[in-house]
Amino acid sequence: MYEKPTINRVDFAMASKYGSPLKTQKVRSEIDGVSVHDLVNKYGSPLFVFSERIIEEKYHEFKNAFTSRYPEVEFWWSYKTNYLDAICKIYHKLGSKAEVVSEFEYEKARRLGIEGKNIIFNGPYKPKDALKKAVEEGAKIHIDHWYEINDLEEIAEELGIEIPVAIRCNMDTGVYPQWSRFGFNIDNGEAYDAVKRIYEGKKLYLTGLHSHIGTFMLSANAYANETKKLIELKNKIEKDFGYEIEYIDVGGGFASKNRLKGVYQAPEVIVPSADEYAEAITNAIFETNKGKLPKLYLETGRALIDEAGFLLTTVFAAKRMPDGKKSYIVDAGVNLLYTAFWYNFEIALDKRYEGLNEPSQINGPLCMNIDVISENIMLPPLKRGSVLSIWPVGAYNVTQSMQFIRYRPRIILIDKNSNTHLIKEADDLNYIVEKEIIPDYLKG
Ligand SMILES: *Cc1c(COP(=O)(O)O)cnc(C)c1O
Repeated sequence: MYEKPTINRVDFAMASKYGSPLKTQKVRSEIDGVSVHDLVNKYGSPLFVFSERIIEEKYHEFKNAFTSRYPEVEFWWSYKTNYLDAICKIYHKLGSKAEVVSEFEYEKARRLGIEGKNIIFNGPYKPKDALKKAVEEGAKIHIDHWYEINDLEEIAEELGIEIPVAIRCNMDTGVYPQWSRFGFNIDNGEAYDAVKRIYEGKKLYLTGLHSHIGTFMLSANAYANETKKLIELKNKIEKDFGYEIEYIDVGGGFASKNRLKGVYQAPEVIVPSADEYAEAITNAIFETNKGKLPKLYLETGRALIDEAGFLLTTVFAAKRMPDGKKSYIVDAGVNLLYTAFWYNFEIALDKRYEGLNEPSQINGPLCMNIDVISENIMLPPLKRGSVLSIWPVGAYNVTQSMQFIRYRPRIILIDKNSNTHLIKEADDLNYIVEKEIIPDYLKG
């Protein structure tokens, strides 16, 4: 196809907002031994691809980092990070239990065969009947607020039992903004008061302390501060109320090797390793704990799954914008990549291309100005049919993907033997209109 020629200034070796103009092309022609072209030919484009190999590698990296330092460690898979059945199954097979934050997620875990006692029920909004069911099934309830203490006391009364509970705590860990809207504050004494209230109510008893201090936390030291405060609270309430705290749950929030917008250092440089997080947390326990060592629970989501997810997308058209910048239209939009607003993903080409890299923008297929996958990227001339792989996208994109304008695509899993499996079918018209109702007077 004819394209009007343009002249672009080439700033040799000068880094700009596009990166270095001489940067080599990033190529990803296959994932776990399967060609990206074969994948889109077989399953269509766009296509989410998950790698079982990477899921297992990441899990073992984090598991080993903690179990080599601490006697009793348990992983609880954060459902909201990615609750595709097949993905949850892999984590459960690896030994993770379930962490849920709604009755929907609770039901999804139960449907996968996870027993109540192997589910942590977190979150600020637990409707009373869902809470009661979870209590009856022996789930671990992490209390978020004072109303929930009352709800649980009523449930204890109704069932004629004493209910084991944990409380969620928040605190200053040196990282701002502080996530202070969940749970009870340790620094101002609220968490201690909540425990006192539970103790005096005599219908609940405390078995755990929980906190989840944020997400994509780039400071291992924040976890040292968090853990120290949780253990100090544990020491105090064991002494004052005679409780034996079975576990402390330090939550999730470890960063993945994604590139935050506005952060110019490479993820390899600024993201703490599993060992650094583990060292900070376990040292804080050993240094602070009095009495019996508690079990250590982790609710890691993002750091385990993000790098195992890819989104393949195909170039549909190229344009030249008035300012001379090249623009590509691809078939995956921000409705599939909610996290595109925070991260500069790595975007790799299916093969090496002839021609000079030039400043380019990648736009999705939505008829919306905000549908930008990458604003500034150096790309060689691409043609219709070029396949790009966007990475890492395994955390939060599938669960937050939105049916908007277009059908959501298929999702596949590549197992450790490089076999591919469809794990979610694409949307279709029936799926989308299934729940719609036309009032009688508008029919005909
Ligand atoms: C979302 C969430 C997690 C997982 O967080 P990541 O940042 O994905 O590791 C863990 N615990 C709770 C309570 C959460 O809300």
